[in-house]
Amino acid sequence: MADLTALTSSAYNQALEVIASVEPRIAEATRQELADQRASLKLIASENYASPAVLLTMGSWFSDKYAEGTVGHRFYAGCQNVDTVEALAAEHARELFGAEYAYVQPHSGIDANLTAYWAILAHRVEGPWLQNAGVKNMNELSEADWEKLRGELGNQRLLGMSLDAGGHLTHGFRPNISGKMFHQQQYGTDPETGLLDYDALAAKAREFKPLIIVAGYSAYPRRVNFAKMREIADEVGATLMVDMAHFAGLVAGKVFTGDEDPIPHAHVVTSTSHKSLRGPRGGFILATEEYAPSVDRGCPMVLGGPLSHVMAAKAVAFAEARRPDFQTYAQNIADNAQALAEGFLKRGIKLVTGGTDNHLVLLDVSPLGITGRQAESALLDSGVVTNRNSVPSDPNGAWYTSGVRLGTPALTTRGLGGDEFDQVAELIVNVLRKTSPGTTAAGAPSKASYAIEDGVAERTKAAAAELMDRFPLYPGLDLS
Ligand code: PLP
Repeated sequence: MADLTALTSSAYNQALEVIASVEPRIAEATRQELADQRASLKLIASENYASPAVLLTMGSWFSDKYAEGTVGHRFYAGCQNVDTVEALAAEHARELFGAEYAYVQPHSGIDANLTAYWAILAHRVEGPWLQNAGVKNMNELSEADWEKLRGELGNQRLLGMSLDAGGHLTHGFRPNISGKMFHQQQYGTDPETGLLDYDALAAKAREFKPLIIVAGYSAYPRRVNFAKMREIADEVGATLMVDMAHFAGLVAGKVFTGDEDPIPHAHVVTSTSHKSLRGPRGGFILATEEYAPSVDRGCPMVLGGPLSHVMAAKAVAFAEARRPDFQTYAQNIADNAQALAEGFLKRGIKLVTGGTDNHLVLLDVSPLGITGRQAESALLDSGVVTNRNSVPSDPNGAWYTSGVRLGTPALTTRGLGGDEFDQVAELIVNVLRKTSPGTTAAGAPSKASYAIEDGVAERTKAAAAELMDRFPLYPGLDLS
């Protein structure tokens, strides 16, 4: 077999030369981005490093093709190769997750959620309404009936996890479109333990009677019992939608099985392909056969024309995730998160829920007297890339926050193990303990600026770069 590393090196060097002939500053920024990613500790829980095969797949002329519609049913001519790509990506997704149906067009996780909401409304509200009215589609309705149907569609209820408990903006957060298109209520976590309280959720569902219950999270460091969620949904007649954007890699890699695997329990599952799943930036939807016809109309009813080059890269990434070594990778993600959590706990750092059993940990930095924003900035200047995050009932709100979210998928891809994650915890704790709140230019207390003891950021940055040198990103890929 050809030396893939050498081929990748020469492919990128030649591609950058072509780009530089038009806009050298873009070629330079692309080189610099690799250098920066190589040197820093990437602990953003939603990021990863896709393989060269996935990245290279995106740089093709599939980008030039319009293909609204679905496989075999396009609004544009000449889509035979896009059909091949989309059908393959969907087949890999179905096989990988054991799903009845897969839709690989959503451009991102948010697009997947909007498409899923629309499909659920179409299946649960619009379809039966049209049937009752004795018509096949909306265009046959009188103006008055059309207004009535619009009223029905706009009058539905959604129950999702609140943002500060770890849910996502699209799960019914008021300022988000999801909070405006539905009457929404939110469920949270137990104030004592920080864990999901299924009894409280069930009680809320019984009272609120939502059309849709959304499970899934961006910043909850624990597993979810989807069998229990489905029982609650069934009891109140709701559709269970699971947003597995964050933990799709752990589902694909069979770390989450049984009650923790959303596919057998949910009616509709949405996801991104670029987080723990390690594919290209994008989204996808899995569903039961019952919901498939509505989801399949996502484009052009909700989505713009499919990004065929990205669908091709999704096919490659799903094929990678079907290989046995992906299961080892997924298990390592979870084991490393445990090691990271233990590293913080033994150094006296407070963790939301007291630990983790997925791919992320959520530090509560308030006992250190700093905000999440100050912690994030001090760490970034020390070569550690994280993101600030609210903790439950956060007194500092969603902008400054009291938390920092860290995830293990990216550095696990680089090969770090438990010992190295303990070292990472040590570096982070050292920075945080030597960081204090700064002041504004006028000398007032600030929630944003910070002060750090002399030399700490520089020493940490050097230690991070040294650690990263031992685990090279894209080993053998040399940009000349
Ligand atoms: N859903 C969840 C749970 C997420 O965490 C995110 C990303 O932050 C999204 C959806 C949105 O994904 P994207 O940024 O691809 O739209």
